[in-house]
Amino acid sequence: MRDLSAGPRVLLKRLRELMAEPLEPQERLDRIVRQIANNMVAEVCSAYVLRSDGVLELYATEGLNKDAVHLAQLKMGQGLVGTIAASAQSLNLSDAQAHPAFRYLPETGEEIYHSFLGVPILRAGRSLGVLVVQNKAQRNYREDELEALETTAMVLAEMIATGELKKITRPGLELDLTRPVSIDGDGYSEGIGLGYVVLHEPRIVVTNLLNEDSETEIRRLAESLGSLRISIDDMLSRREISMEGEHRDVLETYRMFAHDQGWVRRMEEAIHNGLTAEAAVEKVQSDTKARMMRLTDPYLRERMHDFDDLANRLLRQLTGFSPHSAAEGFPNDAIVFARAMGAAELLDYPRANLRGLVLEEGAVTSHVVIVARAMGIAVVGQAAGAVALAENGDPVIIDGDDGKVHVRPVADLQKAYEEKVKLRAKRQEQFRALRDVEPVTKDGHRIKLQMNAGLLVDLPQLADSGAEGIGLFRTELQFMISSTMPKGEEQESFYRNVLKQAGGRPVTFRTLDIGGDKVVPYFRSQEEENPALGWRAIRLSLDRPGLLRTQLRALLKAASGAELKMMLPMVTEVSEIRAVRELMQKEIQHISKFGHQLPKKLQFGAMLEVPALLWQLDELMDEVDFVSVGSNDLFQFAMAVDRGNARVSDRFDVLGRPFLRILRDIVRAGERNKTPVTLCGEMASKPLSAMALLGIGFRSISMSPTAIGPVKAMLLGLDVGRLSEVLTAALDDDTPGVSVRELLIRHAEENTIPV
Ligand code: PEP
Ligand code: MG
Repeated sequence: MRDLSAGPRVLLKRLRELMAEPLEPQERLDRIVRQIANNMVAEVCSAYVLRSDGVLELYATEGLNKDAVHLAQLKMGQGLVGTIAASAQSLNLSDAQAHPAFRYLPETGEEIYHSFLGVPILRAGRSLGVLVVQNKAQRNYREDELEALETTAMVLAEMIATGELKKITRPGLELDLTRPVSIDGDGYSEGIGLGYVVLHEPRIVVTNLLNEDSETEIRRLAESLGSLRISIDDMLSRREISMEGEHRDVLETYRMFAHDQGWVRRMEEAIHNGLTAEAAVEKVQSDTKARMMRLTDPYLRERMHDFDDLANRLLRQLTGFSPHSAAEGFPNDAIVFARAMGAAELLDYPRANLRGLVLEEGAVTSHVVIVARAMGIAVVGQAAGAVALAENGDPVIIDGDDGKVHVRPVADLQKAYEEKVKLRAKRQEQFRALRDVEPVTKDGHRIKLQMNAGLLVDLPQLADSGAEGIGLFRTELQFMISSTMPKGEEQESFYRNVLKQAGGRPVTFRTLDIGGDKVVPYFRSQEEENPALGWRAIRLSLDRPGLLRTQLRALLKAASGAELKMMLPMVTEVSEIRAVRELMQKEIQHISKFGHQLPKKLQFGAMLEVPALLWQLDELMDEVDFVSVGSNDLFQFAMAVDRGNARVSDRFDVLGRPFLRILRDIVRAGERNKTPVTLCGEMASKPLSAMALLGIGFRSISMSPTAIGPVKAMLLGLDVGRLSEVLTAALDDDTPGVSVRELLIRHAEENTIPV
């Protein structure tokens, strides 16, 4: 037998020439398999490509019957070829027939070939096809031959990915890479987005696969690895780690991988086998990914993401890729795909072009989702595998109502969604027409509809939606998107700007609600086992009075001469409110001493989010000017379900008897004490639950700006008096089996109330 140690190099050199020649795709494929067969002294070399219907079709062969090309086929998982594709693992057999998966394909005129070496054609860990060599003699293919064949498979992966094989794909059939895929996730922000995929961390497309000189490539790899390691150390030592969406333990894992000798060795081997440094990174990344995708352990799968991210970083180092070069081709209708993302990163995108956001992780209340919702873009979270299944520029539809993502949708689906979008636009138009209509129910109750906000980008929605004011301004968002603690003057000018843009409409500022899941990068507290029940919101503010006083001062100064409305988050005991009032008094004195004009009126409120307050309602209402129910947190604590944990958060119903009874008690206490009561949790944003709130007596609610129209449309058709009779009976009655939600839906249907 020929000495093959120089073989792979010669083969790759020939392939490089073949790739550069202006050949028709079939001709190129035919020549590639011929080259491989010659070079490896194999009687057969065949390339199978995976179609979108899960069938592996013979696309080229040297040695088998040529008439079988485009006819011979195997299903995924069938025969040796199907097994390789399904497992994304190579098979090296000296006696192929003895393998239990062996299957004879008569149309190929296959003789008895004992030896068989097959490798998957991989891209981003996904099988796109299989490349096989066969010999009559029983032989064991050597390790370097296996490596060479795997490397060659990368060249084929590139041919498939660039769409070159489309031309020789039979009409009516499609390759797997262009297969439409639908991913089921959770709808985090309503709306439909039609557009094109923008990968938040774009995969680098390696086109220069085959090296000229291994030593140069080894040096390039070493240099890039060096810079990568330094950049990770840098990130670890920076204070604003979580601004990048990267938490310390993830970075520690990166560091561990970046120093992993096994990884470096495998990449060096691939370079010695003829690949460029970037192709070597991609090959090892793809192999590792294919291997790890088979793991079921969630912890290890999570590490796969980390490894994947790290390899992408290394690729970016090697290719000198900068996100700016990608921004140039930013589509007008962009749907951003990310594994996870920080709120600030989303704000970096050109807002006018954003149509949607797809996250592999996330929860409804994660910061990035709150910001996306404020921006009015559709969001689907928990979309497993979305990033690997999509390519930059792929057409995509995201349905934030149903939590679906359709990548490369078929024409019918595209049409159906275009209709849906038109219908929505028409409905939006109808809502816009209601903008200046007074929110009065059919039986004459005037309802106050306000909107929630937290950033300056939200402010234009005040006029657009027709909201009467801002019922909840989440001041922590400004802190969350800033890399350093905003100074007093910055806060002051920000609040002044908010008030100015609100143009005289009332704004209720909520003091800092950080801690729990709201992470502020420069304010790292200790790890907590139960952060939702931990050191957060007003607890933290009272323990760090400097922080709170700075904010109070900024608010007082920003509202000088005007009305200032503010409220405190997560109050548990009335004494906490008194403590803040004392600090406020000090600030008022301080400001007056320096001759600043004070606000002409100060309204001081509390959020009702902690159930303990339910047994202090009269005292509470004696202490404050108004109460705002934070139903997101109140529900979480009352029902003992983590609001960010999709597994339990939908388990109980906000429209169930227990929670509605709690809310009714709060309204009654407000009437008894003549204290205004409002509600600013997500419940207010859904017409059906907003209807229930009006039915139990709320006359003021605050919601996301896009909900104002639908909620107003609902209340214009509502007779509150009649609904409240139905609800009173339902809440006082415990008839098992009759859910309040069903009753409400039925009531809306019978009375043609749009919910
Ligand atoms: C709530 O808890 O209902 C609320 C409005 O506050 P946040 O969602 O910001 O916790
Ligand atoms: Mg809350």
